[in-house]
Amino acid sequence: MSETKTIFMLIDGKNASAASGATFERRNPLTETVATVAPAGSADDARTAVDAAAAAFPAWAALGPGARRALLIKASNELTARADVFHRAMARETGASASWAGFNVHLAANMLLEAAALTTQVSGETIPSDVPGSLALAQRVPAGVVLGIAPWNAPVILGVRSIALPLACGNTVVLKGSELCPATHGLIGEALQAAGLPAGVVNFVTNAPADAAAIVEAIIAHPALRRVNFTGSTKVGRIIAQVCARHLKPAVLELGGKAPLVVLADADIDAAVDATVFGAFSNSGQICMSTERIVVDECIADDFVQRLAARAAALPAGDPRDLAGAPAVLGSVVDRATVERCNALIDDAVAKGARVVCGGKAESLIMCATVLDHVTPQMRIYREESFGPVKPVVRVRGDEAAIACANDNAYGLSAAVFSRDIARAWKAAQRIESGICHINGSTVHDEAQMPFGGVKDSGYGRFGGKAGIDAFTELRWITVQMAPRHYPF
Ligand code: NAD
Repeated sequence: MSETKTIFMLIDGKNASAASGATFERRNPLTETVATVAPAGSADDARTAVDAAAAAFPAWAALGPGARRALLIKASNELTARADVFHRAMARETGASASWAGFNVHLAANMLLEAAALTTQVSGETIPSDVPGSLALAQRVPAGVVLGIAPWNAPVILGVRSIALPLACGNTVVLKGSELCPATHGLIGEALQAAGLPAGVVNFVTNAPADAAAIVEAIIAHPALRRVNFTGSTKVGRIIAQVCARHLKPAVLELGGKAPLVVLADADIDAAVDATVFGAFSNSGQICMSTERIVVDECIADDFVQRLAARAAALPAGDPRDLAGAPAVLGSVVDRATVERCNALIDDAVAKGARVVCGGKAESLIMCATVLDHVTPQMRIYREESFGPVKPVVRVRGDEAAIACANDNAYGLSAAVFSRDIARAWKAAQRIESGICHINGSTVHDEAQMPFGGVKDSGYGRFGGKAGIDAFTELRWITVQMAPRHYPF
């Protein structure tokens, strides 16, 4: 049976091909057969999607919070009902394992429920005025049309995240799918449409890779477009920030990471190893919060590395579509470029003195877990995001050196500190430059209601909870003059 799926964009509640009829292909990374044929939308198609969202905005913004909440709860159920379809699409398009796909649908469904709960929290305040008889209010109101751009690596979570809270706040949305997983992202639009959201409230556009810059600029430049959120690489994030600045459109940017997991001398070594294995190798290390630097006090490093290598070497790797037997923890990585990048990082580190303690260079896209010990700042993997299952251990002496090492990086998304002494861990956590830090927990941890986001080259702005409401609403100052007003002339 052919595994190729042909998909459509979603514009004004209807399936849409590109006006030109053009399409592009996404190939299965493992088998190289065509996984998806998707519309190669143009700038004009993208503007049509924004027009549809703009036309749907007044009615959606005026809908009471209870009605929006009911539809978002239904959308969460529609998403969950498609869990198997999502897994098949993710395995075909990105090589994701069944457990990663399951977690994606679970957290994305929670994000819709959390967004549903927040519809009644889009509130404001009264502010004392010096003008006699003036009632002054600060009121949060929907911003307008919101553009969401999501990557392939956690496609359901990040696709849903880019639109759920904006919708809850009364905005209408355009989701621009990733060229690497158009069918997976398209299923999100399908689920929301099936939940009964009115036509035009959710729109979905796809594009061939070469057209990304043109289509994104056309959407951002559209006068009805009021907010942008982008999750992806720091390189493209800088471009998006510049386009947004040119058009004076505010953006939330969730970019790359190089999360440190710091193991202090008094840490519970088994707990730290468990968190490292999970944080470093979930989705083959292709997560923005992935543990990307394991910073270990040298007095426990031999023991820690030995236990980590044993656990990592035992992780099953295999074809993510094969669900018989022990399901793979490490599926296929997303493309050959990942294999080449990781192999080059290993070559560079080994040439400069690092030791491979498990795994090694990969020959296929099914990469096994690799740990490099004795990594130093001279090695590329010390600073660069591997975005694959190849992870460095850096040995340090004492807490000060551990904190300095954690901060010796351009990124600042997630971090973790392990110590049996919570006051000691807290002191270290306070000084680590990151948007997120977990004490005695993995760097990979996301919940719908938490303020999620980074500092430094990991971007700015926050998704999740009340912080997300601030990002996707306007704050208006409204006054009501309750008594005759005295003017000087
Ligand atoms: P990417 O930046 O390559 O691509 C993301 C999107 O950018 C795609 O939709 C693409 O069409 C678009 N794009 C590409 N060139 C463009 C241009 N010139 N102008 C406008 N748009 C353009 O990211 P990716 O490889 O898909 O995702 C991996 C990256 O995402 C990693 O760096 C990872 O750390 C990061 N990430 C961050 C988070 C977070 O929450 N901070 C979450 C997941 C992934």
